[in-house]
Amino acid sequence: MVPREKLGMVDLIKVGKQMHALACELHPICRSITGDGVRETLKRIAQEVPIEVHEVPSGTQVHDWVVPDEWNIRDAWIKGPDGQKVVDFSECNLHVVGYSLPISAKMPLCDLLHHLHSIPDQMDWIPYRTGYYCRSWGFCIAQRKMDQLQEGIYEVFIDSELTAGSLSYGELIIPGQTSDEFLISCHVCHPSMANDNLSGIVVAVALARYLMLEPRRLTVRFVFIPGTIGSIAWLALNGEVIPRIMHGLVLTCVGDIGDPTYKRSRRGNAEIDRVMEYIMRQAGVNDRVLDFVPYGYDERQYCSAGFNLPVGVLSRSVHGTFPEYHTSADDLTFIKPECLADSLSKALSAIEMVESNGIYQNLKPMGEPMLGRVGLYDKRGGGRTEKFTELAMLWVLNLSDGTSDLLSIAERSGIDFCDIVDASLALEAAGLLQRMGVTCN
Ligand code: ZN
Repeated sequence: MVPREKLGMVDLIKVGKQMHALACELHPICRSITGDGVRETLKRIAQEVPIEVHEVPSGTQVHDWVVPDEWNIRDAWIKGPDGQKVVDFSECNLHVVGYSLPISAKMPLCDLLHHLHSIPDQMDWIPYRTGYYCRSWGFCIAQRKMDQLQEGIYEVFIDSELTAGSLSYGELIIPGQTSDEFLISCHVCHPSMANDNLSGIVVAVALARYLMLEPRRLTVRFVFIPGTIGSIAWLALNGEVIPRIMHGLVLTCVGDIGDPTYKRSRRGNAEIDRVMEYIMRQAGVNDRVLDFVPYGYDERQYCSAGFNLPVGVLSRSVHGTFPEYHTSADDLTFIKPECLADSLSKALSAIEMVESNGIYQNLKPMGEPMLGRVGLYDKRGGGRTEKFTELAMLWVLNLSDGTSDLLSIAERSGIDFCDIVDASLALEAAGLLQRMGVTCN
C-alpha cells in the first residue's frame, strides 16, 4: 500500500498547500461549458501534468445531445440612472448569467428586474446562474445591492459571443501494466467558485502527479470535462474505452471542512463501492456512504442505464446541502489545504486498494500448510512477524478458495487490508497461493 508510506503527514500538508495555491491561480478565470476560460484552465493544468486537449466542434451529435455553440465574454456591466456602474463583470464573473447573449440597451428598472437574480436570504452573496440553452441574458447580484436600486433608466451592456466553435476537454492517460482502467473525472465548467469545481480539479492534478511517479498495474485515465455535456460527449466519442473502465471516481466538492463522503455507483456493490466503504469506515465516517441517486454530477452520465459504469463520487459536503453552494461565498477561504489533502489521500487509497485487491487460490488447502517449512512461521509463536501477523496468513489461506477477494477477507477478519495484502504476497512468494485475477464488478 503505497500512499500511507509515500504520503506522510508532512508531504500531505505540503501537497495541500500546493493544491490550494493552484486553486487560487485558477479562481479568477471565467469558465463555462465551452469557451476560452476552459481552454485557459486546461492550459494551466497542462503545465502540471501532460494532458491532451480535445476540441469537439459545435453541432456534433453526442448521444441525445448536440454540442452547443461556444460562449465567450469580454465585459459586462449595468449603469444606473446616474451613469455609475452598479454591477461590473470585471469585479466578479458570477455577475453575468452563463451563456448570456450580447446586449446593449437602456431600460427602466421594472424591465431590468426581470433579468436580475439574487438570493433573498443571503444579503451579500452573488448567486451562480447559467442559461446554456435559454438564449437569453441576465445578471446576478447581491440582495443588498438589489434593494438599493433606484427607479430610473438603466444602461445594460454585455459584450459576449455565442458562435460556432467547440467544446474543450482535457484527458490524461497514465498507462499501466494492464489495459483495465480507473477513471477519474472532474468538471471544469464553473467560473470563480472554489469547492464546486476547483477543488476537484486540483485534487485530480495532484493525484495524477503521484500516480506518474512509478509504474502501476491499472491504467488511470483522467478527464477534465465540462459538466453533463462534457461527460456525454466523452462517452459518445470513446465507445472503445468504455468496456475497459473497471472503476471510477468523480471528484467534486472535495475541499471544504465537511466530512469525506462517498456516493455509491448505480451498481451499489461494485469493487469501487466496497473499497470506498472500507476507506470511509477506516476513517470513522461510515455514515457518510450514500446510495446512488440519479442526480448530482457526471456520475449521472457514467451511471446512466446504457453505461452503468462502476463510477462513484468522492466529495466532502454534498452539493446543495451547504449554503455557499453555487454562490460567491464558495470562495478560496471555503476550501482548506488539509481538506484537499485528505481527499487526495482517500482517492489515492482507493486506487491503491483496487490495484492490490484480488482473488487467490490456496494451493495447499488440505489442512493448514506447514508454514515453518517455507519460513513463514514465527518461532516465537503467534507474535507479529515483520510486516503482518500470522493470523492474517491463516485468514488468507482459509478464505482463499477462489471465491473471496482480499477485501472481503479483510472485512471478515477485521484485520487491516494492508496486512492482508502483505500476507497474501508472502504466501504467493512461498508458492502457497496463486492469484486468480481481480474481482468481478
Ligand atoms: Zn455546480
